[in-house]
Amino acid sequence: MDQTMHTQTTAVHAGNRRDDAFGAINEPIYMTSNYRIPTDGSPVDWSGIHSNIYARNRNVNQMVLQDKLCALTGGEDAAVFASGVAALASVFVTFLNSGDHAIVSEVCYSATNLLFRKYLPEKYQVQVTFVDTTDTEAVKAAIRPNTKLIHVETPGNPTTGISDVDAIAKLAHDAGALLSVDATFAGPICIYPLKHGADLEIHSMTKYINGHGDSLGGCVIGRTELVDQIKELAMVNFGGILSPFNAWLVARGLVTVPMRMKQHSAVALAVAEFLEKSPAVRFVWYPGLKSHPQHDRAVALMNGMYSGMMSFDIKGDEATHQKFLNALHLVTHAVSLGDVESLIVYYDKTSDKLPHYPKIYHEGFFRFSVGLEDAEDIIADLQQAFEACGLV
Ligand SMILES: *Cc1c(COP(=O)(O)O)cnc(C)c1O
Repeated sequence: MDQTMHTQTTAVHAGNRRDDAFGAINEPIYMTSNYRIPTDGSPVDWSGIHSNIYARNRNVNQMVLQDKLCALTGGEDAAVFASGVAALASVFVTFLNSGDHAIVSEVCYSATNLLFRKYLPEKYQVQVTFVDTTDTEAVKAAIRPNTKLIHVETPGNPTTGISDVDAIAKLAHDAGALLSVDATFAGPICIYPLKHGADLEIHSMTKYINGHGDSLGGCVIGRTELVDQIKELAMVNFGGILSPFNAWLVARGLVTVPMRMKQHSAVALAVAEFLEKSPAVRFVWYPGLKSHPQHDRAVALMNGMYSGMMSFDIKGDEATHQKFLNALHLVTHAVSLGDVESLIVYYDKTSDKLPHYPKIYHEGFFRFSVGLEDAEDIIADLQQAFEACGLV
């Protein structure tokens, strides 16, 4: 693939393989668990990742997807998994040993939180410090001689806090540690963690990369030397690989990711500006708003597009919050994000996660994944729900 091509061209063409058997333009789905072993008698590495032997080691639809991911993110190699959580776990088990120390964003995905708060320390004696990684000084202060991994989620799910990837990469590398960045909330294209010094970029492909809400998936992208270690340990021996069919679905989603991120970002900015002006709203955090606490950092990191994710709260008691959710017609009450349709979830005051979020979140709030609908229609839905609740 010509590296000088523009992003949308790359998304369409990178990774595609020629079908010399029948001339099909679309990538076939290789629904095969086995591949023929060469008949030349050369030795076969049953655990090898560099040839097609068995679909857990390597398979064609995975390779297409991995190549597209690399072309779009500037990574050397990628490993794709059956879910975002499998991709995250692959990094943690590959690069952390018993007795090592990890620094982790205190605002992070629930499975990341649970792995580091409970399972990795209790079962494998990994030491962990959770810090507010939007505060670079706090990251610096947490570094120990045995720190081996700094794991940052940026923008953070659900607060959209932005961490300084360049500065934290420098801190990690000076300490002999790796920096992994879960960039799921931004999707690719809006942010390029690898170009800002991260060693590994991780996404739940279930969200923006697939984008159509019909497949789970996860990826890790980075230098070949690191990704090979992940494949050799976590992919082949833990086995959470992505099926050929889901790899094909996700690769099809990835083709339109540059176009979709543009639309998600433009619609979300208009919606965030509407929310910011509405008397019904207690606060809104969206990285593209000047009022966002790390807006300047988002401008430096985020490529002029700020994705479709925001968090906000309305005024009123718990009952009003429930009433608001029920009054929405176009926007669906559901937990995922990065889908073509707008999705919203409520974190009520009793959520055990709230203590780790900035104080303004402690009263409860909504996480809002703005879809690809027209901004006017989403705004009209929010406005009629505010009216139904007597908030405006
Ligand atoms: C959804 C999500 C994950 C987990 O991904 P799955 O595909 O659901 O396993 C990890 N990190 C972030 C930031 C997410 O939003």
